[in-house]
Amino acid sequence: MSSAAVIACRTLRDMTNTQLLALDPARLDQLVTEAVSDGKTANTQTMGSRLRHVKADKAPRLTQAGLALGCARVAVLDSQGWARRLLGEARLLAGDTDLGDVFDTTALVARIDQRPRVVDGRFAPDCCGVWTFQDECWVVCPKCGGAAVEADKVVHCTKCLYRAEYDGNSSTWERACSPWFLLPLLLTVSTSLGDVWAYNSRHLEQLRAYVAATLRDERNNVGRSWSSRLPAWMKAAKNRDTVLKALDRLGRVAAEAKLV
Ligand SMILES: [Zn+2]
Repeated sequence: MSSAAVIACRTLRDMTNTQLLALDPARLDQLVTEAVSDGKTANTQTMGSRLRHVKADKAPRLTQAGLALGCARVAVLDSQGWARRLLGEARLLAGDTDLGDVFDTTALVARIDQRPRVVDGRFAPDCCGVWTFQDECWVVCPKCGGAAVEADKVVHCTKCLYRAEYDGNSSTWERACSPWFLLPLLLTVSTSLGDVWAYNSRHLEQLRAYVAATLRDERNNVGRSWSSRLPAWMKAAKNRDTVLKALDRLGRVAAEAKLV
């Protein structure tokens, strides 16, 4: 670990919550950026957990955004999906302020948008839960049957301009439908083995890379990660061709939908 990273980790660790919250948000983020600059270490994981547990409800919105962003910087060492989620939170907390005006998010965004990771020839699936892909669900428009998007409790169709906001609290996660309006997914296809579906192109890309890989590195995948919960038939080598064909069909649907 470089000395700058060690010092930043130690500085953050030794601060009281009050001191952390009193920091200028940009300075706080700078410290976290330095602390994670060396990649994954036990220290940064501890720091991530520390940042997550700071009670910041009464702090200024930008400080809360800085904390969420710090968590995203730690999370991306393990999971692009988690980091995307936390970055979204930071953007919401920043409100009218553009996050990029206060914090340097370029490298983080680039890392989150990276293609599925291959490490030493083995596909390393993102260890996020499948629900993290549900931040943006590609769905069938309830009005015109075209391709629509449900995100942040709003469903919007770019074709017929249908738009609806959900004002309830009941949600459904990890099922083959959108979380709020329970709309059918655009990317879904039946095979003789079972249904193959994805929430959006990011999810589809991860699925395809997973199924196509003959070698998989799943050391990081424990508990509720999306790949640990795939049905056994989807993981079986003997079904690879059938599942890949289904995924490629979904790839064509995704390309035609032009939602990216
Ligand atoms: Zn429509």
